[in-house]
Amino acid sequence: MSYTSAQSGDNYRNWWPHPVMTAFTNDSIDELDRFAHDSGDVFRMTRGGYVLATRRTNIGEFTASLQPGIDIVFHEGKAIRERFPALSTDIQNVVHIRRGGDISGQQLGTWMLEQVRAKGGRLLRGAVTEIDPRDGFVLSIAANDVTTVAAGAIVNAAGPFVNHIAAMLGEELPVHNVFQQKVAFEDRLGAIDRDMPFSIDLDEKTLDWSDEERELLADDPDLAWLTGSLPGGTHCRPEGGPKGRWVKLGWAYNETLSDPQEDLANEPASDPQFPEIVMRGAAAFLPALAPYVREPPTRYSHYGGYYTMTDENWPLIGPMTTPGAFMVAALSGFGSMSACAAGKLCAARVTGSALPDYAEALSRGRYDDESLMSALRSASSKGLL
Ligand SMILES: Cc1cc2nc3c(=O)[nH]c(=O)nc-3n(C[C@H](O)[C@H](O)[C@H](O)COP(=O)(O)OP(=O)(O)OC[C@H]3O[C@@H](n4cnc5c(N)ncnc54)[C@H](O)[C@@H]3O)c2cc1C
Repeated sequence: MSYTSAQSGDNYRNWWPHPVMTAFTNDSIDELDRFAHDSGDVFRMTRGGYVLATRRTNIGEFTASLQPGIDIVFHEGKAIRERFPALSTDIQNVVHIRRGGDISGQQLGTWMLEQVRAKGGRLLRGAVTEIDPRDGFVLSIAANDVTTVAAGAIVNAAGPFVNHIAAMLGEELPVHNVFQQKVAFEDRLGAIDRDMPFSIDLDEKTLDWSDEERELLADDPDLAWLTGSLPGGTHCRPEGGPKGRWVKLGWAYNETLSDPQEDLANEPASDPQFPEIVMRGAAAFLPALAPYVREPPTRYSHYGGYYTMTDENWPLIGPMTTPGAFMVAALSGFGSMSACAAGKLCAARVTGSALPDYAEALSRGRYDDESLMSALRSASSKGLL
C-alpha cells in the first residue's frame, strides 16, 4: 500500500474494450461489493459510475467497441444539460458507464491485512535483495529483525520493480514503466458538485493559450508540444465525500518510459507544469474550473507514480518460468480496481484451485496465442486512462 498503490486515484469501472478485461474487473468489483458488505463499507465504495463525454456527434465506432453486458446509459442534447449540468455546452454525447465509482484503497488494504492477521498471517517489512531458488526459495532480506526467509512458493508483486525481482531468478518480464501524474486541490470556489460522478473528456484537445503564451511556448523546444494536440482522457472527480472540499484531476498523457526511482521525488518525468496543464485540460470540459486557470488553487498536492504495463496493457498474473514462482504484475492504471480478482486468481494458481476462464489470457501463456496477440496489437483502444 506504500508505493504505487498510495498514489492511486482509487477509481473502478467495468468498461474495457475487450471481454477478458471486462470479466476480470467485473469479478473484482463483485469481490469489492462483498467486502463492502462484510466490512460495513469501511473503504467507502461509491457507485456513481463513469461519465464519458465527447464533442463528437457520431459515436458509432465507440459504441461498437463497448462490450455487451456492461450497464450503459447514453445521453445526448438537452438530456446532457439536465443530467450533467457541469459539462461544457459543446459536449454532444455522454456515455454513462454505471458500474463504476471509487474506493479508499488504503482502508481496503488495512481491512484485508486485519483479515490476514486474524488467520495467523504475519507482515515482515524489508527489501528482498537476493533469491536462491534451490530447494524451494531462500530470500535474503534487508530488514531490522530478519535476514532470510525460506518459502515453498513466492509471488512477485513488486509493482514497478517486478523486473528487479525477476532478474534475481534470471528472468525478464515484458513490462515497462510510465510515470503518470495527478493533482488534488481544495476547491475553494465550490466549482465541482460533491455528487458529480467520475467524469472523463474522451476527446483529443489543443489547450486554450493566449496568443502571447502560445508564441512563447512554440519557441521553446521543450515546451512546444503544449501547443499541439494532446490525447483525450482528462478526468475529474470530487474527493472526500459529500462534506469534503477537495477535487482530483488526472490526465495520463505521458508516454516516456522511465527507470523506476525508489524515491518518486527523483523521477525526471515529474513535470512542475502538470498542475496547470491538467487544470486547463479539465476546464475545457468543466467550465466551472476556468477561474482556477486564471488564479490557481492555493492548496493543492501534485503527485504521481508508475503505470507498470505490458504493450497490450493487460496484466501478467500466474506462474513465472521458475517453478514455484508466481507473479501479480503489470497492473498499469487499473491495479486498485482489479486487486481483488488479481489476488484471487494468483491464489488459485498457487494452490492449484479452479481457475476462471480468463486465467490463461492474463498469464504469460497469452504470448503463445498468436491470434489473441495480433488482435490486441491492432486494437484501436487499450483501455488506458
Ligand atoms: C497516478 C496513478 C493513478 C492511478 N489511478 C488508479 C485508479 O484510479 N484506479 C486503479 O484501479 N488503479 C489506479 N492506478 C494503478 C494502481 O495504483 C496500480 O496498478 C497498483 O497500485 C499497483 O499495485 P502493485 O501492488 O502492483 O504495486 P505497488 O503498489 O507499487 O507495490 C509494490 C510493492 O513492492 C515493494 N517492493 C518492490 N521491490 C521490493 C523488494 N526488492 N523487496 C521488498 N519489497 C519490494 C514496494 O515497496 C511496494 O510496496 C493508478 C496509478 C497511478 C500511478
